[in-house]
Amino acid sequence: MRIRLLGSGASDGWPNPWCSCGSCVAALAQGVVRGNTSVLVDDRLVIDLGPDGPRAALRQGVSLAGVEAVLVTHRHLDHHFPRAWVWRGWAEGTGPLTLIAPPLVLQDAQGTLDGGVTVVPVVPGDRVRTAGYDVVALEAEHPDDAVLYDVTGPDGGRLLYATDTGVLPEAMVDRTRDRNYDVVLLELAGSPIPSHLTLSTWPAQVDRLREVGAITDRTRVLAIHVGHHNPPPDELDRRLAALGATAARDGDVIDTTTGGRRVLVLGAQSSGKSAYAEGLVGGAVTYVATAPPRPGDDDWDRRIAAHLARRPDDWTTIETGDVAGMLRSATGPVLVDDLGLWLTRVLDSHWDSPTARPAFDTALAELLDAWRAVDTTAVLVAPEVGSGVVPQTASGRLFADLLGKATTALAGASDEVVQVVAGQPRRLR
Ligand SMILES: [Zn+2]
Ligand SMILES: [Zn+2]
Ligand SMILES: [Zn+2]
Repeated sequence: MRIRLLGSGASDGWPNPWCSCGSCVAALAQGVVRGNTSVLVDDRLVIDLGPDGPRAALRQGVSLAGVEAVLVTHRHLDHHFPRAWVWRGWAEGTGPLTLIAPPLVLQDAQGTLDGGVTVVPVVPGDRVRTAGYDVVALEAEHPDDAVLYDVTGPDGGRLLYATDTGVLPEAMVDRTRDRNYDVVLLELAGSPIPSHLTLSTWPAQVDRLREVGAITDRTRVLAIHVGHHNPPPDELDRRLAALGATAARDGDVIDTTTGGRRVLVLGAQSSGKSAYAEGLVGGAVTYVATAPPRPGDDDWDRRIAAHLARRPDDWTTIETGDVAGMLRSATGPVLVDDLGLWLTRVLDSHWDSPTARPAFDTALAELLDAWRAVDTTAVLVAPEVGSGVVPQTASGRLFADLLGKATTALAGASDEVVQVVAGQPRRLR
């Protein structure tokens, strides 16, 4: 299953275009703009179709021409914008489409649907097979007969789409028992009304879903329908990272077939990148220390000891340069610190030699393969060099050049890229 976030924001988006609150001002300054929450699965199934969704798809380079089914959670306009059906009626070459939604949505859609659309009304507990997907409607704590959706794809990928809702009804939680979702999208509108969740009620919902086996260690948990009642984007990212979750952004794509979650954390020396990276993983973590031993260097030993002291007791530390091998054999969360020392080891016997680049190319290809194939949560820390003065020596320039190449290639294959500056994380991807 390939889940694309056409939008990840609340009804008014975020920032709210009219608003001058701190959270909106910060979101705009950080360039993080979110439209109405809507997802596109495998380019074939849409969940929620507000006014922003269809255009967001085009801006992300995809069209809705191949969509065979649309699921709508409830009649609120940010989730169902009937006018979008009129546009479909004006299109050429449209195929059959199934609209699955609570009866009130179907009532609103009346008169806008073209002849190719078949409607299927649903109430909580209903199960529908459509376009190869297995869909179950779930209870929501939200007005106007709203439902949530449990969706299983043709490839077995499983998604819980849970917006809009307040504290999850027990009947809904019961239906998610042992579902072991690949992806959970859970609303975090932030507005302090009972039909939505806030940062004070959200963590308990995640815990509850964990208790019943809906969320497991392999589940990716993302907040959707986020709005300006939340703290600014970078602060929200920090708060959710501490819960093992992320705030979805418009344009995010989650591929459940790759299973894992790859996070690349960049930062200059002493930027706080290692401490931040350590906060992203929990449980029985394998810590891969790439630092080669430096006999007789007391200062180095002290730095390593400080890193060690910060790690919880149930972590296993392995000192090796074989990062690809560690990623391939990993079954639980892995933290690799860091890419610069990995590169030092790769180049170790090749400095000032024409064999340096071929050795690097081979090692990077192997690392990239392993990184793409990761089936768990993997966090890779990378130092930033080369943004200041050009190094004096040829080997220094080679190092900066190759580190830049490795970082760029790995970033392209990562689910998330975070840069830490002065202890402050900023999502780049
Ligand atoms: Zn909404
Ligand atoms: Zn605001
Ligand atoms: Zn609503």
